[in-house]
Amino acid sequence: MPKAVTFETEVTQVVLETADVFTYRLEVPDGVPFTFRAGQFVQLTVDTPEYGAGNERLTRAYSISSPPTEAGYIDLTVKYYDDGHVSKHLREVTYVGEPVTVSGPYGNFVFEAGMARSVGLIGGGAGVAPMRGIARYILDAGLDVDIRYLASCRTPNDMIYLATLLAWCEKHDNLHLTHTITRPEGFNWPGPVGRIDAGKIRAHCPPETTEIYYVAGPTDMVRAVRKILKEELGVDKARVHWEPWG
Ligand SMILES: Cc1cc2nc3c(=O)[nH]c(=O)nc-3n(C[C@H](O)[C@H](O)[C@H](O)COP(=O)(O)OP(=O)(O)OC[C@H]3O[C@@H](n4cnc5c(N)ncnc54)[C@H](O)[C@@H]3O)c2cc1C
Repeated sequence: MPKAVTFETEVTQVVLETADVFTYRLEVPDGVPFTFRAGQFVQLTVDTPEYGAGNERLTRAYSISSPPTEAGYIDLTVKYYDDGHVSKHLREVTYVGEPVTVSGPYGNFVFEAGMARSVGLIGGGAGVAPMRGIARYILDAGLDVDIRYLASCRTPNDMIYLATLLAWCEKHDNLHLTHTITRPEGFNWPGPVGRIDAGKIRAHCPPETTEIYYVAGPTDMVRAVRKILKEELGVDKARVHWEPWG
């Protein structure tokens, strides 16, 4: 695994993904020996004087949502909580040019060439962040890997990266995209509804044809999906990589 380093940098781009999810691009300055594997995370430290004494510098973990095949920067995709310190700071205070400290990469939630010929990427909410990096890495590297991307979100308005993913699907036959919507009321949504369950996994990334699974997002969701994979679908835990955020 690449060695963790700490470096000072700045935000170079802020992209609105949905009403409460933003992607922040952070420059990796020339000469900083930072490399990572698809799926890893960093610790981000920001100055938050708006919270008063004792809270000036706060650190949180964020998955890298860009692939290692894109050099010179990393993207972090962050969901905003109105009672959350760092996510609120990022949404309400952060601007292009803001100095931040990055440390990493960290984690074994990693996809590398040769690990499998088929992957199931299961993300809840902003848990799709590392999945974007893994999927893009596989496509950029031209790997012969079937990608089954299954994302759960509240409404059709909460589909993170939708335009990007649809464009990737147009170009790449090995990327298959499914969203399930947990709050479909009021939307004319023709696709799957409800949380990720055994039926949806069987339909969109079945254990018979999916060698390894990646599951990321809120802790409850990750635990629930792991349990389904193990107890209802009989998937050995060695085939499941998981990243709970709690
Ligand atoms: C390995 C790892 C990778 C992560 N990657 C990402 C990522 O790519 N994108 C991302 O948005 N977050 C990610 N997280 C979560 C992130 O580190 C923070 O926990 C999150 O941004 C909230 O921080 P905060 O300072 O805004 O909230 P805090 O001030 O820490 O918490 C305030 C309130 O926010 C709510 N809250 C905090 N975190 C969560 C949560 N995960 N689910 C539900 N409610 C929550 C709680 O109600 C809590 O009371 C990751 C966490 C880990 C451990």
